[in-house]
Amino acid sequence: MCKATSPIPISGRGVDAAPPSVNVARSLVEWLGGRYGKRGARTFRARIAVQSLFALTCVALGLQFAHWVGAAREGTLPLPARPAGVEAFLPISGLMGLLDWIYRGSLNVVHPAATVLVLIAIALALLMRKSLCSWICPIGFLSELLARLGRAAFGRNFKPTKWLDVPLRGLKYLLMGFFLLSIAAMGRDALTAFLTSPYNKVADVKMGLFFTQMSPVGLGIVGVLVVGSVFIQGLWCRYLCPYGALLGLFSWASPSRIRRDATRCVDCGLCDKACPSRLPVASKLRISSPDCSGCMDCVAVCPVKGALAMKVGRHAVSPVAYAAAVVVLFLASYVGARASGAWQSRISDREYVERIQHIQSNEYGHPGMQNP
Ligand code: SF4
Ligand code: SF4
Repeated sequence: MCKATSPIPISGRGVDAAPPSVNVARSLVEWLGGRYGKRGARTFRARIAVQSLFALTCVALGLQFAHWVGAAREGTLPLPARPAGVEAFLPISGLMGLLDWIYRGSLNVVHPAATVLVLIAIALALLMRKSLCSWICPIGFLSELLARLGRAAFGRNFKPTKWLDVPLRGLKYLLMGFFLLSIAAMGRDALTAFLTSPYNKVADVKMGLFFTQMSPVGLGIVGVLVVGSVFIQGLWCRYLCPYGALLGLFSWASPSRIRRDATRCVDCGLCDKACPSRLPVASKLRISSPDCSGCMDCVAVCPVKGALAMKVGRHAVSPVAYAAAVVVLFLASYVGARASGAWQSRISDREYVERIQHIQSNEYGHPGMQNP
């Protein structure tokens, strides 16, 4: 190519002339923007990377938490650092804390991280749809891996017929309504009493014991969900998760929407096949469903530039930029909460030791299930 027609910018610095670190960063972004999986069932690679990182973080938090509980059982003082991130697994306590915060104007000091994490999830849903479900939640990630295992073993996942699928999808809203109404009906004083109850103070430890010392009933339920997720894609998320249902309702107000440009679309149908929420992307101009998790798999799989995009208002956001925004918003909120002191529980090490050593006593039963 002669110099006059060369695409080298006026500055004289072409792509290859960039410093090696810039080229490495470009290659990484290109790789992350690629797809993983077979044609028609691909997943956006950046999403798998982000999900893996958060899942590994959860494993690390779990190990640190087990170490902390072990030290409390032995009465070792001072206790090692307690990873407050485990409160992500107390969404109901988090929701109660949110309502209590609204009632009293101050954040509860028992499980503040649970409340902050619910707030972050809602803020993410308002801005970027149910991105917590598709990018951060380890249960969603595990569910996708199990479905992938099913496809590898049987060539496909099974879908309940429409007459069964529609009422099943309503189950998660019923569960959500049940929890919200139960919390709302408690009233201000009962809510505060629950949050400061012995049961709630060790609810995280009880949750850990539920999974590590599972009863036959618990084992049966988890077993059904795990095996069922191999056969039915998104068994938990699509039909049963009340938290996802709540975030889906908030996501309706989000300015982020998948939009299809019918003049560019070639009707290949790949976006339909890639969508983990089984939404009819190829036949809609925009996706407003509360089941859209903002996963970007449909955009990443679309072979025609500009045919499909996640738009915030009128502006298209690239899949990699969307991935970066989800991670940055989540981490920035976490750092902000930590820095402001709204993260760590104020329960003292001594109180934790005392309570955890007697956790099997009646005092630590669920307040709603105790005899008067
Ligand atoms: S419509 Fe696109 S972004 Fe929404 S869930 Fe389906 S694949 Fe993900
Ligand atoms: S939007 Fe893209 S992936 Fe979907 S049918 Fe059109 S061209 Fe195919």
